[in-house]
Amino acid sequence: MQFARFSSVALRLPKHAPNHRTRASPTGTYAVFVFVEPGLSTIAVGNGLDVWNNGCGNSDAHRYPIFTESSSCSTSPCLDVKLQTGLGPLDDDGNYAPSSFNPATGTITIYTLYGPPPGNQTTPLDDASVRFYTAHEVGHALGLKEDSCSGGVMNGANFGGASTAVYEECQTADFMNTT
Ligand SMILES: [Zn+2]
Repeated sequence: MQFARFSSVALRLPKHAPNHRTRASPTGTYAVFVFVEPGLSTIAVGNGLDVWNNGCGNSDAHRYPIFTESSSCSTSPCLDVKLQTGLGPLDDDGNYAPSSFNPATGTITIYTLYGPPPGNQTTPLDDASVRFYTAHEVGHALGLKEDSCSGGVMNGANFGGASTAVYEECQTADFMNTT
């Protein structure tokens, strides 16, 4: 879809120690907690997190953090995933984005309306779409920008679909989160 673009911002998440190639455990030092606010499916968001947790078929090979759902954001680092009624920010193409990530607050927001001005497209909040928005914005949190990877989750053309993190995206996430 031509207006499937997203805002491009990045957050620096905690980095793995130099030369530390594997995580000790899924709840180890490099976990980032994720709080899902009411109105969104924790299962669908969790599926979005798993795009990265299980990225590229080897969950133990990542250098980037793993993402674990939490009942609050009292433990740092944390991402806050929420639903907001109405329009979000305009993207680089002048369209309203269906989701965004704010690196200053660690907030991922999914908007109920999006699309070209006046932005009256209704955001599908089915599990597949919420999964995609979450995975896409977590990609931004990992430092990735929009890309044109075939089947990739950072490719806005795959908006709402069943795409996953492709090899190049996992490699970029590692690169962006490795000292
Ligand atoms: Zn984006």
